[in-house]
Amino acid sequence: MSLTNETHTPSLRSWVESANVCNADFPIQNLPFGRYRFVGSDEGFKIGVAIGDQILDLHGAGLIDSHDMNALMALDAGERLHLRRAISQGLAHGSSKQQAWSKLVTPQCESEMAVPCQIGDYTDFYTGIHHATSVGKLFRPDLPLMPNYKWVPIGYHGRASSIRVSGQTFRRPQGQTKAPDAAQPSFGSSRRVDYELELGYFVGRGNELGQPVSIEGAEDHFFGVTLLNDWSARDIQAWEYQPLGPFLSKNFASTISPWLVTTEALAPFRAPFVRPDCDPQPLPYLDSEFNRKAGVLDITLEVLVQTQRMAESGIAPERLTLGGARTAAYWTAAQLIAHHTVNGCNLQSGDLLGSGTLSGPVQNEAGSLLELTEGGKKPIRLTSGEQRTFLEDGDTLILRGWCERPGATRIGLGEARGTVLPHEV
Ligand code: MN
Repeated sequence: MSLTNETHTPSLRSWVESANVCNADFPIQNLPFGRYRFVGSDEGFKIGVAIGDQILDLHGAGLIDSHDMNALMALDAGERLHLRRAISQGLAHGSSKQQAWSKLVTPQCESEMAVPCQIGDYTDFYTGIHHATSVGKLFRPDLPLMPNYKWVPIGYHGRASSIRVSGQTFRRPQGQTKAPDAAQPSFGSSRRVDYELELGYFVGRGNELGQPVSIEGAEDHFFGVTLLNDWSARDIQAWEYQPLGPFLSKNFASTISPWLVTTEALAPFRAPFVRPDCDPQPLPYLDSEFNRKAGVLDITLEVLVQTQRMAESGIAPERLTLGGARTAAYWTAAQLIAHHTVNGCNLQSGDLLGSGTLSGPVQNEAGSLLELTEGGKKPIRLTSGEQRTFLEDGDTLILRGWCERPGATRIGLGEARGTVLPHEV
């Protein structure tokens, strides 16, 4: 079983020199899709491919005939591969396209990015078993992991309208909260604004209502990934979440990275899906040979924070977490797609599935402040001298992700950055 081809060859170089720099996020082996325009312009967003620190205009290059990313995402696997090969060949060192295409590249620093596609529906899952266990302990010490967790991929329908691209700022949300010892709830600004380190899985081709996607076919409907910060107001969440799950604690903002890193680009970074012997094996509709051999994505994830004071003093963002999706997720993207559609529910091109918070097995790999500070009890000390239990006004959170493996060229996911503003601006 080989998922890789000549577009992944490590010796491949591009005539865009910045793509050949060691540890670049966007070498020619990556080729992620995004939507961009010149900063400050009011023209429509175009579809581009990131290459080094530049963006190639795909329509200008004659490789696509519209500016509709959702249509591009709905291409079948063969058409997607054909497009990837054409982009790779044209950007490769020595290509006959160099002279024409060099007029079609724009520096990323002169570009403004949009959310990469129209996101019709957003479902957030809860596949991070270490996150589910430690948060469960805080909310329900007697029953940290619910009895269904190891059988059903848990999720809820989220809100797509408040998902924005990296660079998002939002006002601290207000809402109802209730302290455990208070007789009744009070209304005001959330005092427990947190982040959640997640991957966003984008749906490519959709399925008809009433026609489930089998686990064997699920990979064909999986287009690619972004970084996803599912901002969460923990005090609002604690009071509202039962019995129907999160609502206003989650839908005030969600931030994604601008580049859709495709499953084709991720092919060299697949890993086996393994369940511990003591855990139940997935039911047959969530199990396939391919999923067992290669269902997992081996992506390294990082979270950094830069407080307002750090930014004003020129202090670089400080790392809060370094961990991996591989050890954190209890279910694969293909299992989420198969499960989501098993009742006949229709997914559409551009739908977003959140992985859930991808915390590693140890404390310093936690993907939220709720876990890092043990529910706000143990503040984090930053090298600036400040400390944090939850996010304060002016704090900027940065998610980063990348894949590296011997014999493959490292690729990156870019970053998802967002800033909490005071309630009153
Ligand atoms: Mn979440």
